[in-house]
Amino acid sequence: MTSMSNAKSKKEEADLKMAHLDLRLQEFDSIYGKPRAYLDELRRYMGFGEGFKCKTCGCADLENTSSGRAGICRLCKDQTWYTAGTFFHRIRKPRAWLFTIWLMGMGERFNACDLKRLLSIAHSTAQTIIKKVLTVIAEDMQQDSRVIEASSGHFLAAIYKRSRKTPADEHPTAEQDEMEDFTPPTNSTQIQVPPSAPATCLPMLSLGSPTGMTDSAELSEAEKEIVSLLSNTPMHIDELCKRTRKSPQSLSAALMILELNGFIESITSDTFVLASGAKRNISPVLLACGKDLDLLGASVVGFIEYVRSEFRGISRKYLELYLASYWCFLDRKRWSTKSILKACDRFRNVTYEDILAFVSPPMVSLIPV
Ligand SMILES: [Zn+2]
Repeated sequence: MTSMSNAKSKKEEADLKMAHLDLRLQEFDSIYGKPRAYLDELRRYMGFGEGFKCKTCGCADLENTSSGRAGICRLCKDQTWYTAGTFFHRIRKPRAWLFTIWLMGMGERFNACDLKRLLSIAHSTAQTIIKKVLTVIAEDMQQDSRVIEASSGHFLAAIYKRSRKTPADEHPTAEQDEMEDFTPPTNSTQIQVPPSAPATCLPMLSLGSPTGMTDSAELSEAEKEIVSLLSNTPMHIDELCKRTRKSPQSLSAALMILELNGFIESITSDTFVLASGAKRNISPVLLACGKDLDLLGASVVGFIEYVRSEFRGISRKYLELYLASYWCFLDRKRWSTKSILKACDRFRNVTYEDILAFVSPPMVSLIPV
């Protein structure tokens, strides 16, 4: 496929997605299109029902203000904010909030740029709404019995965006180095992808086909060192650590990248061999032994594809929120509009400061679906 026809199909894909989301918005507006219906819907799902009472005298006779966001008590004339003290405390754009949650509940793929265009809201508003809702889903993930933990280093191939946590003048994946306390802090362990590469230039991972990175010239020093140490004889990670003088945590990122790109194979979760040429075209992560690792490998590959096609790249800082997004997207039994709203209702208020302070831990949680 030439780059031109590739670019054309990308554009066609984007146009199709836009047309689809436009239809979704029309459908949404036909259901909730009355000025106050968005808030009514939020309130209904959040258990306030019709019985909302005055915060001062307990009277149930409230008259909506013009915005519909508060009621004036007909007895004591005090104003009660309907969303005060809830997850939706002080929200200004109930339509944008409900539409975002509704799209997530429908299992749609969308990003902040889509919301900006569809709802004519600021990109930062769209980002904040998405991240606040994902915070709730990520929190719920911790309580789920299927949750597993994985080194955030497995997900480096999805990370292309800088965040406030990215060290100055470094590739966004350098956040991982900081998290894992690499010594010495050099560029040697980063993936060799230009940070500004447009999405169409990124090597796409796909099962059963060669990946974009197949030339050993593109490997980092740490990756080259691992390749030089491995042979057909399985080597345990402890031995690799001893020879490279690195910790298992710091090696796991490089090992996963090498495995995803077909340079090495894991025999068990802890032993590795150099990949034979014949197997270079098979996604080696799926050849890994052990059910958990198979499950993890499939989730990692699926997640990276999801992130690259939908968000181009994410920052390491918000990795866990996007893992929650991927779970919500895939797990159609667990996440409907109603169940997301209910989870929001159970959850404390998430502030903008909470979002800024959010940092994914070195071991991130995910639900393999
Ligand atoms: Zn009152």
